[in-house]
Amino acid sequence: MPSGSTESTAFRSAIEVIRGVEPRVADAIGQELEDQRDSLKLIASENYASPAVLLAMGNWFSDKYAEGTVGRRFYAGCRNVDTVEALAAEHAREVFGAQHAYAQPHSGIDANLVAFWAVLAARVEAPALERAGARQVNDLSEEDWARLRHELGDQRMLGMSLDAGGHLTHGFRPNISGKMFDQRSYGTDPATGLLDYEALRKTAREFRPLVIVAGYSAYPRLVNFRIMREIADEVGATLMVDMAHFAGLVAGKVLTGDFDPVPHAQIVTTTTHKSLRGPRGGMVLCDSSLAEQVDRGCPMVLGGPLPHVMAAKAVALAEARRPDFHSYAQRIVDNSRALAEGLLRRGATLVTGGTDNHLVLIDVESSYGLTGRQAEAALLDSGVVTNRNSIPQDPNGAWYTSGIRIGTPALTTRGLGTGEMDEIAGLIDRVLTATTAGVTSAGKPSKAQHVLDAKVSDEIAQRATDLLAGFPLYPGIDLG
Ligand code: PLP
Repeated sequence: MPSGSTESTAFRSAIEVIRGVEPRVADAIGQELEDQRDSLKLIASENYASPAVLLAMGNWFSDKYAEGTVGRRFYAGCRNVDTVEALAAEHAREVFGAQHAYAQPHSGIDANLVAFWAVLAARVEAPALERAGARQVNDLSEEDWARLRHELGDQRMLGMSLDAGGHLTHGFRPNISGKMFDQRSYGTDPATGLLDYEALRKTAREFRPLVIVAGYSAYPRLVNFRIMREIADEVGATLMVDMAHFAGLVAGKVLTGDFDPVPHAQIVTTTTHKSLRGPRGGMVLCDSSLAEQVDRGCPMVLGGPLPHVMAAKAVALAEARRPDFHSYAQRIVDNSRALAEGLLRRGATLVTGGTDNHLVLIDVESSYGLTGRQAEAALLDSGVVTNRNSIPQDPNGAWYTSGIRIGTPALTTRGLGTGEMDEIAGLIDRVLTATTAGVTSAGKPSKAQHVLDAKVSDEIAQRATDLLAGFPLYPGIDLG
């Protein structure tokens, strides 16, 4: 990460300007930097964007409406938005080797909605229009329109189950995807915790989905996208991969061949703020067969694009094209392995027994007799920021859970290496070993309360602070 007084001047000046209007916001921005500097951030979906990425977001691009696509806008005066959107797409195509890139989605959930509707438009709407001899939906009779709406709402999706590491947006009822699609899940082999491709193939043959969604938020191993595509082709499904979590590993060429989703899936979605280390946002990549439908994301499911965020996406993707991003991606995985090995050596049980990517899932119920919620709270008391997560066949359900998910993208950006990861594994193990389950006010065992000696939590928190002091966050930025 670059350092220097130019960055300090830029951020200090920005904060002073804000202070002139609402000092409490200025204070909160400054405090957020301090909090981030002081925390041992192991949340697998977070990172630290570069100063260039952050600065690209705070400007007058925010004022501009730009519905439409590059060169085809519904508003006048979009030439500069065209420049940044085209650059974001060009860098994305280059970084990922994609035929087409769409940089407008505001978030990962939006990117997934764009992708679902692109597939529905291509595979359900377009044939219906053709059958009715209509050019567009407005030309359909009331009867044909009613039939099409019914057909659009009657499609099937096969997605990874939540407890195996899938994401809510992959067809689960609390999310709109679960209300749109009739969803069935595939999971992992209970004996190994690994994706069970043969069971998936069998379910796909029986269920005949329109879309198979691959991708995850909490699966610590590689996914073979060549096999996934083979299964999708066999049953006539479109393969969509949500690489929100591991896009940085694809950009950094750590995931290649069968493990790179882009050559195998017809459509790939991502967030830009996790391992990819860009601004908070989403993106869709696809092959040319779906490009036209994907570009209709606005107005299909999106409002006007966020040109300031697209500017920051272009900067982040330019960073991802540099050779040092490849070594960053490799260090994420090296660190994740070191963390896993450190935990295993100390006796912890890990889902799948280890990791091949940026995240590790500790089974805290089997290892320490704690729920995920108790472990998460005890670690937070000790200055270690993680989040609880379900594990396959979770005995504690989706709220309390039995897992703790930890990831290395953020600490790797900060410069920590494998030696520090081993030490962090030791800190985590010490906290969880010293923690016990609490009791409810009625004296019954609690899944929420935990007991941890303050001496232990204070000692670990101090060690975490000392460790982080050797790896300053945003070293070029001094807010004074
Ligand atoms: N897809 C996956 C696999 C995710 O892990 C997430 C976020 O955690 C999302 C989509 C949603 O991203 P966002 O929070 O940007 O909407």
